[in-house]
Formats: sequence, C-alpha cells, structure tokens
Amino acid sequence: MSITALMPVYGRNEVRPVRGEHCHLIGEDGRRFLDFASGIAVNALGHSHAGLIAAVQKQAETLMHCSNLYGSPQGEHLAQRLVDLTFADTVFFTNSGAEAVECAIKTARAYHQQGGNPDRYELITFNNAFHGRTMATISASSQEKMHTGFQPLLPGFRYCEFNDLAAAAAAIGPNTAGFLVEPIQGEGGIRIASDAFLKGLRALCDEHGLMLILDEVQTGVARTGTFYAYEQYGIEPDILATAKGLGGGFPIGACLATEDAARGMGIGAHGSTYGGNPLGVAAAEAVLDVVADEGFLADVRDKGERLRGRLEQFIGNYPELFESVRGRGLLTGLRMKVEPRAFVAHLRDNHEVLTVSAGDNVVRIVPPLVIDDSHIDEFMGKLSAAAASYSPEESG
Ligand SMILES: *Cc1c(COP(=O)(O)O)cnc(C)c1O
Repeated sequence: MSITALMPVYGRNEVRPVRGEHCHLIGEDGRRFLDFASGIAVNALGHSHAGLIAAVQKQAETLMHCSNLYGSPQGEHLAQRLVDLTFADTVFFTNSGAEAVECAIKTARAYHQQGGNPDRYELITFNNAFHGRTMATISASSQEKMHTGFQPLLPGFRYCEFNDLAAAAAAIGPNTAGFLVEPIQGEGGIRIASDAFLKGLRALCDEHGLMLILDEVQTGVARTGTFYAYEQYGIEPDILATAKGLGGGFPIGACLATEDAARGMGIGAHGSTYGGNPLGVAAAEAVLDVVADEGFLADVRDKGERLRGRLEQFIGNYPELFESVRGRGLLTGLRMKVEPRAFVAHLRDNHEVLTVSAGDNVVRIVPPLVIDDSHIDEFMGKLSAAAASYSPEESG
C-alpha cells in the first residue's frame, strides 16, 4: 500500500507543529516559527491564550456536548451577543466555514420558496471566490481546479467578475435569489471589494427583492479591524457566514440572518449534531471577550496600518520581487511579481516565518490579532533577510 494514513489531499510542508506559544509555533524538532499565518486567519488570540484555555477547560469539565433537542442556555447567550453586535436577528451555529455558507445558501433559497418564488434559487457569485469545499460551496466558486473530479456540480450558481457592478446587474434574471460575495477575497489574494461594488450590490438587492449574502468566514471577527468587514462599507447584508477566527482555534462557525431573511428557516428546516455545542460556544465567548471591544478593534486597525506602512517602504528595495501591498486591519496581502509559493517556502524553511500563499501572486500575512510591535519588528527583520537571500531561479 502506498497511500498515506492521512488522505493525501494536502501537499503538506515539513513544518510539524506540536506546540504553540503566543505568536510562535514550535515544531516536532524544536524549531520555532513566527506564526503570521494563524492557521489561516483562525488563531485570532494567538496560541496558548490563557482566557481561551480557561474557558474551554471549564466547559469541558462542566458539559462537553448536548443535543440541539434540548434548550441551550450557552448557545442562546452567544447568539444574543452576535445579534447585539451585528445586523442580525438570529443565528445558526455550525462547525466550519463551509457549513456556515451552506446554511446561508439554504436560507436564501428558503426565503424565496417561503415567499412563493420557487424559481428564485440561483445565487450570483464572483470569479476567484472561495466559499469552502463541500459540494454546494465548490459549486458556488468559479475555480475549476476545485471542480475537477467532482462533477456534476450543484446547479444554481452563476459567476460574474468581482468588482464589476454592471456585470452583476446584467446577470440578474427570473431565477436570481441573490448575491454571495466576500467583502475581501481571502484565498483569491486579498482582493478588496470596492465601496461602489458592495453598496451597488446592496442597492440591487433592495431594488429586486434579492438576498445579499456576505461570506465573512475569513474577514470576520475583528480580522479587518471592525467586528465584521461590512461595517466599513456602510451597508448591512441579509445573511452572513462566519467561522475561522470565531472560535480562536476551536471549530465553530455561524450563519447570521435578519428576521426577514430567515423566514423560511422554521422547525425542521436545518440541523447539525454538533452545531452550537457548548465547548465551541465557550471558545467563541472567550474570543468575543477580547475582540468585541472598540479599543481592541482600533488597535487591530493601527497595527495593520503600521505593518502595511513598513511593507510599503520595504518593497521599494526589491522592485524585481514585490509589486504592491494591500489589505485591511490584519488581513494583509503582499503581491509579488513572481509566483509566491517558492518565496513562502523560503521564508518558512530558511527564516522561520509562516505566511500563506493566495491567488493573484499574493503572500497572505495574517498574524494573530494580539501581536505587538515586537512581532512586527521580528517579521520585518526576517522578511528583509529572506528577500536579500532569495533567488527565484534556485528556489523555483
Ligand atoms: C476558509 C473559508 C471558507 C471555508 O471554511 P472551512 O472552515 O474551511 O469550511 C469559506 N469561505 C471563506 C471566505 C473562507 O476563507
């Protein structure tokens, strides 16, 4: 037998973390890495955060799992907190981002079917989007590399160019249920929706009675310097998917909706054995205790600006390697003039810094939200050393 025990769907690199300490990860071999990947925008509080550990420990000792057949004092409390912090009136808890998007897709379809418009089942989504790896969420993405081998896809998705409002408007037809869009495309390469684009989608939804679904799985929970990224656009969605940072490392996601948008989601419409499980809820409560705070959010914005300012200065020294810097809060993209994966590997293997490559030749820089200036200094020092010692041909 040659297949590995772990199904070989990931091209795993040689870092084998066994322990986390604040903003660093320690490998099996004792090597210590600066973690500016955060498990892909998950470890918002870094590793080994005392408040998060205490909350999970305490909940594990009290009640680890309980069925959704019973009342959930824990879930009600967290849901109310999310309702109070956002546009939403109601929350469904999931175990992952893809499940949160699935719930959002079902909620939008049910909204129209409940309203007597069963033909309105199609969601307009955008090129280079990423919404997860379930059948519905790969169908929602235009990226063919995720489709190969898995046809037939789920019908009911139509792709348009991101940031092209005219194309989105032209795509609306009798089957349209709404739009599903990331305010900032994460996997797609930190591509930021323009103000006019998101505001325009909101206006189109209002005009045509459609659902605006935001996928904030990567942008949410303070990552961009506001609790959700939509706050920076002066609009509100009808439905929103969130996960990644929400549990700070414990798997929990959520689908948030207005009362009107959730009109099709009555008893029996949806479910999940683990969704809203007390352990995940406790983790999310501990994350919100830290990040749902105006001072903390302002800090994230400031640290993001300082990091981007330093990066802007730095890339001037290597015009042959780097093209531009973009992002909001601590969701940052460093666009390269060469394929970024070899540089990400060089940074990791030779300079002990973890980042993540993304589409559009971008190196994603997504540190824990709790970094301080010393981590930015450490990062910039190692990045400079890595750029100085890099030759694309050799690493290619
Ligand atoms: C990561 C991600 C998902 C999928 O989340 P999983 O927890 O991996 O299922 C969906 N949408 C966006 C925007 C993401 O970044």
